[in-house]
Amino acid sequence: MSAARPFISSEPRDHTLDACFLGPYGENDTLLEKMLVEFLRDHVYWRRNFHPEDPPAIATGAAHHPDYIAFESRMRRELHLLSAALKKSVPFHSPRYIGHMASDLLLPGLAAQMLTLPYNPNNVSEDAAPVTVDMEVQAGLQLARMLGYPHDPAVPACAFGHLTSGGTVANYQALRLALALKAFPVALRAAGVPDLSLPEDDWRAFNLSQADGIALLTAWQSWLVAQTPAEQTRWLQRVEHERIEQRGLVAFFAAHRQLQVPLVLAPVTAHYSWSKGLKLLGLGRDQLELLPTEGMRMDPAALRETLQRCARNRQSILMCVAVLGSTEYGTIDPIDAVLAARNESRRRGLDFAVHVDAAWGGYLATLFRHEDGSLRSRKQVAADYMVFPTPGVHAAFAALAETDSVTVDPHKLGYLPYGSGAFICRDHRAMALLAERADYVFHAATPGDYLARYRSLGQFIPEGSKSGAAAAAVCVTHKVLPLDHAHFGHLPRATVRAAEAFHARAQRFALELSDCVKALVPFAPDSNLVCLALNPCGNTSIASANAFVRSLHDTLRCDPHQPLQTKEFFGSMTTLRPDMLGPAQTTRIFGALNLDTSMLDPDEDRLVILRHTLMNPFLIDHENDISYIDRYFDFLGRRIRALHEAADNKA
Ligand SMILES: *Cc1c(COP(=O)(O)O)cnc(C)c1O
Repeated sequence: MSAARPFISSEPRDHTLDACFLGPYGENDTLLEKMLVEFLRDHVYWRRNFHPEDPPAIATGAAHHPDYIAFESRMRRELHLLSAALKKSVPFHSPRYIGHMASDLLLPGLAAQMLTLPYNPNNVSEDAAPVTVDMEVQAGLQLARMLGYPHDPAVPACAFGHLTSGGTVANYQALRLALALKAFPVALRAAGVPDLSLPEDDWRAFNLSQADGIALLTAWQSWLVAQTPAEQTRWLQRVEHERIEQRGLVAFFAAHRQLQVPLVLAPVTAHYSWSKGLKLLGLGRDQLELLPTEGMRMDPAALRETLQRCARNRQSILMCVAVLGSTEYGTIDPIDAVLAARNESRRRGLDFAVHVDAAWGGYLATLFRHEDGSLRSRKQVAADYMVFPTPGVHAAFAALAETDSVTVDPHKLGYLPYGSGAFICRDHRAMALLAERADYVFHAATPGDYLARYRSLGQFIPEGSKSGAAAAAVCVTHKVLPLDHAHFGHLPRATVRAAEAFHARAQRFALELSDCVKALVPFAPDSNLVCLALNPCGNTSIASANAFVRSLHDTLRCDPHQPLQTKEFFGSMTTLRPDMLGPAQTTRIFGALNLDTSMLDPDEDRLVILRHTLMNPFLIDHENDISYIDRYFDFLGRRIRALHEAADNKA
């Protein structure tokens, strides 16, 4: 038992997570080892059974040859060096790690990935991955179900999702798809396709809703199928010549003077992948308009104002990004209000896609799903927590089903190995516009057709060759732990509860240390990320407060020059910028900390704060009645008092 106050658990512990991870102590080592050996042997039998009549190509005595021995010893030496070097890795598995968005890996995913690796499937197409491409498409449908999207491949408007290297590339895919869909009706008009009821002008064509755009696309596909083969080729070419993907942004917008290069709207909290995406797409960062927030959640009033201004100026908008779990603060944008603002804007003739960047928070959606896939009420969800989910957070998750596309990272709250991001769009038919081959004539009439189409996955995705093992990991994990509250949901449940305990403990901590530091959780956590702002008592200078928090953070950050064991806890750091906070929040937060905002200058334009990602499921150890949250705050208190005394002695 530690010197720290023992944590008394008030309820029976949840055993459902016991077999999920290798564990902080490697508790499940024999389970993983057994599975790995079993499936490695299985793989070897598979090799031998391919053509058992082929004799071994490597001589049975090869292992005695000096060259073999020399190679083996070089290999072993390098592997030992690697293994030794890796001991400096960040201990993501430990409940003492509450820094970045990383934790232990789910055993089913880890085992599935390791067992698939020697088969080395390439999910670029079924030719290179007869098994794992299907698993990737399945994983997309599993995620679609979690979000509330249609997920039955027999339904024409079924969703579609695929994996990416991460959230960054998934966000890029969202931009590509939205642009393709927006520009396509303009191309149909320019090509002069007869018989279709096309929008009257380019502005209207560029401002169709996604549903109307997809209806037009399918009408065009049906029209095309009815033509003679020669006419089909002619019309396909004609339309293809007018498409933005063919002409490029410069020629496309030069040819359509009624249209301006569209903006992308995102809250100031948006991840920097959006800036990368706009650069990559050639739209330019000038086209990324960052919207103000209220408590780091997108301010719907500001969005509505921006939309009115754009409608007045005939400034088109490609998409509005809402963030479900901001990278720095874990805050959740009011997705329902974003959709309402879009509906309002739609009536003014200005339409755009709504994409949700749920790279971080996506898997929290499992908490809101019954086993049958239906939505749980706020009351049902709230029964497990003190505050979560606030009405705003519940409304945001409930609104996911109405959005156009979503980014989710299995390698974040899905507890799977890097690199596994995912892009999911609500209606898969739009994906035809991303195909490298213009295969418009496809119609998914059966689930088989749907699968057959996406087996040539490379057609539709930004990447080419890609890991089939990663797809196996995601799909198998979702099968072992279905994406609803009764299965996968146990995991985010543990983390949200930990965040609530952390928040409560932080508030007590602020009182306990009120004689030497002002401490404040700047935003009540929407989920499982909690920040802590600190300022030594008596200080009003932002520079000094930042120096203080930086030196605290120095003891919490990864230091490859120190033995790992000297670290007590790992945390991370972020900043609060008044230009991001807005005047009201700046006054509230800086005021509560007794900091003088007139001392903000270009060198010291932001406040450094601690950031804690509470995704480790073992933060509260019911077995030994230990709360690593309590221990963390005890540690932080000791450090703060030590820093405080050091400063006093200097003074
Ligand atoms: C992590 C994150 C990303 C980027 O995802 P990667 O997997 O690191 O590429 C994008 N958006 C949000 C909100 C994130 O948290």
